[in-house]
Amino acid sequence: LLELAGVSVRFGGRAAVDGVDLEVAEHETVCVLGPSGSGKSTLLRVVAGLQPVSAGRVLLGGADQARVPVHRRGVGLMFQDHQLFPHRDVGGNVAFGLRVQGASRAAQQARVAELLELVGLPGAGRRPVSSLSGGEQQRVALARALAPSPRLLMLDEPLGQLDRGLRERLVMELRELFTRLGTTVLAVTHDQGEAFALADRVVVMREGRIAQTGTPLEVWQRPASEFVARFLGFDN
Ligand code: ATP
Ligand code: MG
Repeated sequence: LLELAGVSVRFGGRAAVDGVDLEVAEHETVCVLGPSGSGKSTLLRVVAGLQPVSAGRVLLGGADQARVPVHRRGVGLMFQDHQLFPHRDVGGNVAFGLRVQGASRAAQQARVAELLELVGLPGAGRRPVSSLSGGEQQRVALARALAPSPRLLMLDEPLGQLDRGLRERLVMELRELFTRLGTTVLAVTHDQGEAFALADRVVVMREGRIAQTGTPLEVWQRPASEFVARFLGFDN
């Protein structure tokens, strides 16, 4: 579904992303791991069309995205700091992408109800965002990202601000949800536990390059380098 070929992004003289080749298959969940500043968010922004590349190609469904604007790429985005719209209720937030697509009011309402059900917040459409707990807000943000049925869902530290227990629970729920919906997911996380629980395949980045890619088990059992081993915390 997604193919990156030789993608580089330079800021000034420095490469934030440096010759990345990566493929994500339909229905696959890929988690990008790596230290702060290794280029994870930049990579997602490139796929979304929010960040132009200095070199390389981005293909979605086999089509080069070089001239395709953000709203035409069919990707959903959920960022850690992507706040909900505080002046809209829950339903208004979830319906956002549907409004942009020009869906009818009735279609929006039906889809919002369906999604709130899906993320475990049935009937919450009229609630003000301020009445939601942190975890509930994350679910609404997820529903908002899923609403327009993106062919690729990208999550950047989606559970970043939640406490450990809630994160673990939501990760399991997400995994189940993505399997059920057949969603293709490219997610960024700092947390190895989260990546290993969520991913079919993990990608470990270092200084803009891919240090290793493989199934969680492969990376866990056979880290490709000392860097990967140390990053995963097995430097003993
Ligand atoms: P974190 O885990 O802290 O979120 P990250 O892996 O997501 O880190 P990026 O945000 O992709 O890292 O940033 C990679 C590098 O590119 C960093 O050194 C960052 O300072 C730099 N960078 C990112 N965006 C810009 C920009 N718009 N202008 C200049 N430098 C940038
Ligand atoms: Mg980041």
